[in-house]
Amino acid sequence: MRYCSTRGQVSDIPFQDAVLMGLARDGGLLLPESFPNVTDRLEAWSKLPYADLAFEIMRLFCDDIPDEDLRRIIAKSYERFRPVSETDDAGNADPQIIPVRDVGPVHLLELFHGPTYAFKDVALQFLGNLFEYILGKQKSELNIVVATSGDTGSAAIHGVRGRKNIRIFVLHPAGRVSPVQEMQMTTVLDPNVFNIALDGTFDDAQSIVKGLFRDLPFKDALHLGAVNSINWARILAQVVYYFHAAFRVMKRTGAKKVSFSVPTGNFGDIFAGYTAAKMGLPIDKLILATNENDILSRFFNTGSYSRSSVVPTLSPSMDIQIASNFERWLFLHAQGDAAQVRTWMETFAKTGEIKIEPLPGEDSLDPWLRAGRADTTQTLATIREFSEAYGYTLDPHSAVGVSVALAQKTDSPIICLCTASPAKFPDAVIRAAGEKATVKEPGIEALKGLPTRKFPLPNEIKKIADFVAEHCHDPASILR
Ligand SMILES: *Cc1c(COP(=O)(O)O)cnc(C)c1O
Repeated sequence: MRYCSTRGQVSDIPFQDAVLMGLARDGGLLLPESFPNVTDRLEAWSKLPYADLAFEIMRLFCDDIPDEDLRRIIAKSYERFRPVSETDDAGNADPQIIPVRDVGPVHLLELFHGPTYAFKDVALQFLGNLFEYILGKQKSELNIVVATSGDTGSAAIHGVRGRKNIRIFVLHPAGRVSPVQEMQMTTVLDPNVFNIALDGTFDDAQSIVKGLFRDLPFKDALHLGAVNSINWARILAQVVYYFHAAFRVMKRTGAKKVSFSVPTGNFGDIFAGYTAAKMGLPIDKLILATNENDILSRFFNTGSYSRSSVVPTLSPSMDIQIASNFERWLFLHAQGDAAQVRTWMETFAKTGEIKIEPLPGEDSLDPWLRAGRADTTQTLATIREFSEAYGYTLDPHSAVGVSVALAQKTDSPIICLCTASPAKFPDAVIRAAGEKATVKEPGIEALKGLPTRKFPLPNEIKKIADFVAEHCHDPASILR
């Protein structure tokens, strides 16, 4: 499989290069040249355990990695997930790292049993192993620089801690991430991990990282790399659980098709579902759920993609202004016309708005996608309702997805993606449903009181660049 850019000036790239490139050099996003149709394999795949299913799906997209190596990378990526006990149809114990629970009118796909209790582990554990493998082959190194509002940073750190040839510099806004998120980052003391507590906001951190990447001589000299959700390998790892969940729910309910509700920020997770649909998984609807930061739900309901300002909500990982992966959908909607995508992106950069029409003969922008939003009141009400009616505690991100799902009518069972553990967001849970609804995770409790390390730095790009340059060649220096 080869990869090409949505902006048309990068093409014929093998998978491993696409992984290292992250963002395409022409500023676009990389996509596979085609989506393999797997309809005739669904029956056989539906019986596979998670790691084997992951192997079958991923090998179609990374044929430049030998099968045995790919199997090993996948096995390593999920060994740090905590299996949850379930019982299979025959009543035998059937531990699952990604369980599907039937709760009330929906099916909940729990994606948060990895090291940092959020779904980003599913992709970032894989990406960490993949980086180490590719760098080992190419005898190269990588210095990852990433800005985080909380979840991405900790999942990325846990994906690459202790690995050879990789260092990671994570900028978080000092004092503005939740206590759990901060502990998950700063209690990691491996010498290749540098937590920078930036004296600024998340937007400041983001703009410093973008500035460092724009300085191409600096970027090339220091082997800077990115782990944000535009990396195709992250999407690929997420495609797997759409198949896994659909197979299980179709078997349990006898349905021929399923729908998914996806709490959405950067459009990465739902694009993985879109990829599964394009490959032939029988998906009825993909329901895109946003909080008050609703640029995407407004777009799919009106055809106008228009910028507004970010408002902080109870689901901070979905508080985005511009959805970085949306360009992939635009490219497919334009039927591969990269010039059209460039025009749209330029117009959006200039005016803050683009208007897109449905394809000729269609009455909606996309036959698979539906969209809705849930505000803070609705999110809290959904957490309370699920706690009281079913004794199940949702985290605020997952609650946005469930809330929007319940407002939609579909002819198919709805699988709601649960993207974080409620144990990460105790304040929202208490506000919605009281102390009794809180959930404690031993892996989070155990972090309390551990030694931490972070580097407070001023909000100045020069200071950050100097820090990265100083530590990237001699990481052991921090231990002296
Ligand atoms: C990142 C994140 C999301 C949003 O996912 P996207 O791929 O950016 O759409 C939703 N929920 C949680 C808990 C997250 O960490």
